[in-house]
Amino acid sequence: MYDVIIVGAGPGGIFSAYELVKSGKNLRIAVFELGEPLENRRCPISEKKVKSCIKCKTCAIMSGFGGAGAFSDGKYNITNQFGGTLYKYVGKQEALDLMKYVDSINLAYGGEGTKLYSTANTSIKKKCLENGLHLLDAQVRHLGTDINYVVLGNLYNDLKDKVDFYFKTAVTSVERHPDSYTVRTAKGDYTCKNCIISVGRSGSKWMETVCEDMKIPTKSNRVDIGVRVELPAAVFSHLTDELYESKIVYRTEKFEDLVRTFCMNPNGVVVNENTNGIVTVNGHSYEDKSKHTENTNFALLVSKHFSEPFKDSNGYGESIARLSNMLGGGVIVQRFGDLVRGRRSTPSRIEENYVTPTLSATPGDLSLVIPKRILDGIIEMIYALDKVAPGTANDDTLLYGVEVKFYNMEVEIGDELRTVYPGFYVIGDCSGVTHSLSHASASGVQVARNIINGLEESEN
Ligand SMILES: Cc1cc2nc3c(=O)[nH]c(=O)nc-3n(C[C@H](O)[C@H](O)[C@H](O)COP(=O)(O)OP(=O)(O)OC[C@H]3O[C@@H](n4cnc5c(N)ncnc54)[C@H](O)[C@@H]3O)c2cc1C
Repeated sequence: MYDVIIVGAGPGGIFSAYELVKSGKNLRIAVFELGEPLENRRCPISEKKVKSCIKCKTCAIMSGFGGAGAFSDGKYNITNQFGGTLYKYVGKQEALDLMKYVDSINLAYGGEGTKLYSTANTSIKKKCLENGLHLLDAQVRHLGTDINYVVLGNLYNDLKDKVDFYFKTAVTSVERHPDSYTVRTAKGDYTCKNCIISVGRSGSKWMETVCEDMKIPTKSNRVDIGVRVELPAAVFSHLTDELYESKIVYRTEKFEDLVRTFCMNPNGVVVNENTNGIVTVNGHSYEDKSKHTENTNFALLVSKHFSEPFKDSNGYGESIARLSNMLGGGVIVQRFGDLVRGRRSTPSRIEENYVTPTLSATPGDLSLVIPKRILDGIIEMIYALDKVAPGTANDDTLLYGVEVKFYNMEVEIGDELRTVYPGFYVIGDCSGVTHSLSHASASGVQVARNIINGLEESEN
């Protein structure tokens, strides 16, 4: 009988385990993770064994100790303006305090010396407003992929003797008893008093079955669809040098849709992302200057939320990504100049392009994949961004598609991040409440504190 079982070793799961251990209550804690320990996580593309995604049974990029964040850019955004809605459950100041606490742990475990960027007092805000663009407020700790990996390694070394980690062990189902829960795996069943589910985006489908089986209400969420833009780092350097990541929102003139920048990677690389067998695009960058490229990349995304009669926002995003996989065998790349001239990019046009792609993608035509309304919005925003970062709308700017941000169904939880069932918690990205490293980690800390408070109350 464990005191707490955590399903998923992403940031949500890791920070739950960390805070539970730190309480000094000598709790029996287990973490079940379907992926590998950190040091065994190897993507055949990163190892240069294959050129494109071969859809491994367990994706080393999305699964294993560190979760989807392990090879990420390690950008911890300290803000309530994006990255999740944790503040709705814990209050705005408490949410910020939790994110700052997570930051302090990251620094203590290897992140010391990394830079904290801030939008406070920046003149870029005014320049954006003059051009119909809105810069969102945030502080950003950029660990970089390399330091992020070091921090995770140090956290694991600290936790491994105090927590039972079960790697390569997917939880298949959860059964509820009057005062406990049993998690079932192919290797056996385990029982606990408190169960924290933190299976991230990659566990979204499984999470839905758990909610169905246990009759936990869920609501459909949005899906974000768009492209990843890659251009010479010099074009955005005045923004990235000061802010590192700028979250800019634009309302299109044509449809009044909101288009926004997302996940900016100065001197970074564009990468494949595999979600449930569908290949989409993402990006990251390294803190280590020797790994810097000459390009900066970021996503331009439009949110779509369906409710009636069609509810499956993720299914809509998946279909669009599948179409790009069908036409391109994976991710498609197109020059902005080719897109606005209504012609496909060809291998020779990409080869002659002034911006060299950092991801080997299939030259093609994104207008055959992305719905017109979304693509029109993205083109409008590229021209708007060109006013604050001249050169964004150059013919040679590369667009990769499709970038899709899937959000989990919103699981009905209360202020304690608890479902209707005592001792059964859902946190991180799989709750639909968070969609970032800092918010997911903060939700892990909060749930651990709630469990400890509950134990203390029952002791008294
Ligand atoms: C390439 C990439 C770059 C990113 N960059 C950033 C960034 O710079 N900044 C930022 O804020 N966010 C970034 N993100 C998003 C960020 O990684 C996630 O928001 C965050 O990891 C969510 O944490 P989580 O713990 O909720 O879930 P996850 O990190 O997804 O972890 C969930 C874990 O649960 C495991 N799991 C799933 N199902 C089961 C099961 N049935 N049994 C056992 N284990 C299971 C998975 O294998 C996984 O390891 C990035 C994501 C990707 C993919």
